[in-house]
Amino acid sequence: MRQLVTTLLMLSAVAGYSQSYKKLHEEAIVIDTHNDVLSSATMKGLDLGRNLKGKTHSDLARFKKGGIDIQVFSIFCDGTLGKDTAFKFANIEIDSLYALAGRYPGKMMMVTSPAQLQEAVKEHRLGCMIGVEGGHMIEDRMDYLDSLYKRGARYLTLTWNNSTSWASSAKDESNKEAGANGLNDFGRSVVRRMNELGMMVDLSHTGEKTFWDVIHTTRKPVLLSHSSVYRLCPVFRNLKDDQIKAVANNGGVIQVNFYPGFIDSNYQKNRRAVFERHKLEKDSLQKLGMPDYEIAEALAKKYRKEMDAISPPLSLLIDHIDYIVKLVGVDYVGLGADMDGIESLPQELRGVEDFPKITKALLQRGYSEADIRKILGENFIRVFEANSSRSDR
Ligand SMILES: [Zn+2]
Repeated sequence: MRQLVTTLLMLSAVAGYSQSYKKLHEEAIVIDTHNDVLSSATMKGLDLGRNLKGKTHSDLARFKKGGIDIQVFSIFCDGTLGKDTAFKFANIEIDSLYALAGRYPGKMMMVTSPAQLQEAVKEHRLGCMIGVEGGHMIEDRMDYLDSLYKRGARYLTLTWNNSTSWASSAKDESNKEAGANGLNDFGRSVVRRMNELGMMVDLSHTGEKTFWDVIHTTRKPVLLSHSSVYRLCPVFRNLKDDQIKAVANNGGVIQVNFYPGFIDSNYQKNRRAVFERHKLEKDSLQKLGMPDYEIAEALAKKYRKEMDAISPPLSLLIDHIDYIVKLVGVDYVGLGADMDGIESLPQELRGVEDFPKITKALLQRGYSEADIRKILGENFIRVFEANSSRSDR
């Protein structure tokens, strides 16, 4: 009898626990600051209103299931587009998001201000924000920057892997020949203009020299929309300890990237071994002129089981959040999954529907409910508010 009572008590504790993480996740404002599904699916004709399981990490039903309140959609083209093409492309991609939101007005709404963000949460519609990933999309023109802001873009990632004429990328800075130029005068005026407009300066992908030049130029808190910790996984575009401290001093926020290659220091080696097994296929795609990141995605999709076998556990992602919290406190970290822009995810995650598992893991790690709310969304809201112009609030 006593055994039965103990078992029942244990079962009810487990049930209560699982209810509490679900309740906490549902009540918290959950924000993800980087998703590439527009580039990888919408622009290719897939409708997020349909069930895209098996094809993408995201669709409208799964955003709902994952309890995501606000999604920043990335506007992206790589550096092969430039003068006369990149800005146009960015606008077409922005059109695709407005069209989607227009098609599902009961489920989505565009968000360009903190007040609209709260409105979307209240109305239980997915709040859609625009982040432009790559300074090359302004084609060295300040009027193009203004125009992207007017169209609703609320962050600009100063560089993608390619540098611009005014800001050097992490990729180029890690290559001695390309060099570390940081920001030039025009770059500094871009940062100042973004501060004036109320557009967040996103330092994911930028080189260290650019990072420090921005820190010394900006008057507003910075954003890292999808970046992880260098100390735990030393890859060129992760953040070193002094950078993490500088973001905290500036009042900014680091939204941790979920990509296994940025959170697990063994992943790249294992990934190379998988791709080596399919070298003939890889070479033929390369000959067709497909860029490396698309080849990786295509191979990963085809050899899902092999990629899943080398994926790190979710606890490693939590380690990155934990590291930042231990170094500078709980106010400077959030989530920037990079879903649909990365070829695989940590073991327990399949797509946006699995965000509640992060809340559960944080509770298990001993975080308080108030701290978890900060990580899930409140820290980002603080930075968004601090950047927004008065009339937008
Ligand atoms: Zn990126």
